[in-house]
Amino acid sequence: MKIALIAHDKKKDDIVRFSLAYEPVLIKHELYATGTTGAKIMEATKLAIHRFQSGPFGGDQQIGAMIAANDLDGVIFFRDPLTAQPHEPDISALMRLSDVYQIPLATNMATAELLMHALERKELEWRNLVREKRKTNI
Ligand code: PGA
Repeated sequence: MKIALIAHDKKKDDIVRFSLAYEPVLIKHELYATGTTGAKIMEATKLAIHRFQSGPFGGDQQIGAMIAANDLDGVIFFRDPLTAQPHEPDISALMRLSDVYQIPLATNMATAELLMHALERKELEWRNLVREKRKTNI
């Protein structure tokens, strides 16, 4: 599965701790991240991550483009609900596209943990079917 990881600045420590805790799960998947989030996770773990631009410089939009191409299977997005972000429109667009394409989107640690357990139990295998179906419809 292709999984994207994003965290706002005040949530960076959380996503690093999360990635360390779930490294054995995450390592089995293809990982993508916004620039700074990806750099911090790679510093702390052995995970290989494809890094896009930093969020405020278009990283969220690049991840959104993967969703629009039905090329992403899940998003872990530790948002900071207490701080205004300069790239709020990009964040809303990313979440909107996740809903349009029914992509599992975890916006906090509690849901992200559920997503990790689901990945481990191969409960996201339906994504393979959706991806194939979409390809044949184009
Ligand atoms: P960053 O971007 O990982 O480059 O900090 C995340 C964001 O703010 O959307």
